[in-house]
Amino acid sequence: MARIVMKFGGTSMAGTERIRRVANIVRKQQAAGHEVAVVVSAMAGETDRLVNFCREANALYDPAEYDVVVSSGEQVTSGLLALTLQSMGCKARSWLGWQLPVHTIEAHAKARIESIESDALIASMQAGEIAVIPGFQGISDDGRITTLGRGGSDTSAVAVAAALHADRCDIYTDVDGVYTTDPRIVAKAHKLKAVTYEEMLELASVGAKVLQTRSVGLAMKAGVRVQVLSSFLGDDAIPADDLPGTLIVSDDEMNQLVEKGDMERQLVTGIAHDKNEAKVILTRVPDKPGAVAHIFEPLAAASINVDMIIQNVGRDKGETDVTFTVPQADLARAQALLEDKREEIGFNRIITDSKIAKISVVGVGMKSHAGVASNMFRALSDRGINIQAISTSEIKVSVLIDEDETELAVRVLHTAYGLDTEDEAA
Ligand code: ADP
Ligand code: ASP
Ligand code: MG
Repeated sequence: MARIVMKFGGTSMAGTERIRRVANIVRKQQAAGHEVAVVVSAMAGETDRLVNFCREANALYDPAEYDVVVSSGEQVTSGLLALTLQSMGCKARSWLGWQLPVHTIEAHAKARIESIESDALIASMQAGEIAVIPGFQGISDDGRITTLGRGGSDTSAVAVAAALHADRCDIYTDVDGVYTTDPRIVAKAHKLKAVTYEEMLELASVGAKVLQTRSVGLAMKAGVRVQVLSSFLGDDAIPADDLPGTLIVSDDEMNQLVEKGDMERQLVTGIAHDKNEAKVILTRVPDKPGAVAHIFEPLAAASINVDMIIQNVGRDKGETDVTFTVPQADLARAQALLEDKREEIGFNRIITDSKIAKISVVGVGMKSHAGVASNMFRALSDRGINIQAISTSEIKVSVLIDEDETELAVRVLHTAYGLDTEDEAA
């Protein structure tokens, strides 16, 4: 017998028919002799709908009230899944974030889980009841509902698995694992049997939305065994216990898989894209000590994450241009803050561009092999794709390009690094 946390995403929970299918998967897992807790997302599209209601009600919405609204999608699906399980003769009940409780910090709309009380959950599972927990939500110290940021149900699931010391956290979604790139963009992408925590963390943080970045960081820290797999397979599908999906593993486990011949070592493990950033150029900034500090301090104080930064070679008269990227959602705020500090910073113009995309190649192989970046630049230039900015980490190279060239760039790089498979993904 094992203790398993099963998480179902929005597409898997979209409508009563799909919830019935999810209930069947859950029921089977319990019938196989396991203790199960289930974490659910809102129905696909529901959270977007709720976010829009908040915007319509008040453009400058209070994040605490926003959380009250947007957390409700998961309350609905957790109740519906418990009802469906009961209709199949299973014992099941929902546990809302404030009931467990899931304690979070107070940062509304982007809260972080601090702890989850698990005693009641364990007692309920041991009594043969299936615990259904709405993802994405928690409660702050002052007793108000919080949410964890978009895609946060993955993090809820991993946190529940850590609190329950679960044997595995299965993340059921609409693809059957983590692929070399988004299979919806590249039909020749192939599924990875395993990926290391470090690579998955990097892939998620540069746009592979199959797992929320924070969920991977938490799994790595707490040593939670995570599998990504599909909820859309038939009754004859390989059971989850036989690990048909993608496992997130430690470096040691990956080395063992490579030694056994179960995994090939590739220089590049995956390619991701992100269309949610915007580029800002400040022209004719004084080229002297302290100038860039003046630009980035107000942005940091407003919790605006700056990603890529380029300071161009100085022009004459001791001036330079500074280019950087911020999340598109923060662009208007960033622009207003910079305009406010125009005198202090001393720039001439702000130029912004939201029609950009960041393309990243990720792989631990880069730590020991040179040439990954130059191959990337060559492959893109051969197709006439212009690179506007570059950033690197130990296991990643990212470039900024025109948004219209996103799909082409991902395909070209997928081929260039030898990741194409012969069989097209379903
Ligand atoms: P859920 O609603 O189940 O949380 P998401 O839409 O958040 O699902 O994440 C699943 C989606 O992630 C897939 O449909 C796929 O388009 C996308 N995706 C992006 N990169 C990858 C990748 N490398 N491997 C698999 N899926 C990916
Ligand atoms: N429903 C939330 C969202 O759409 C959380 C999640 O699905 O993970 O962002
Ligand atoms: Mg998701």
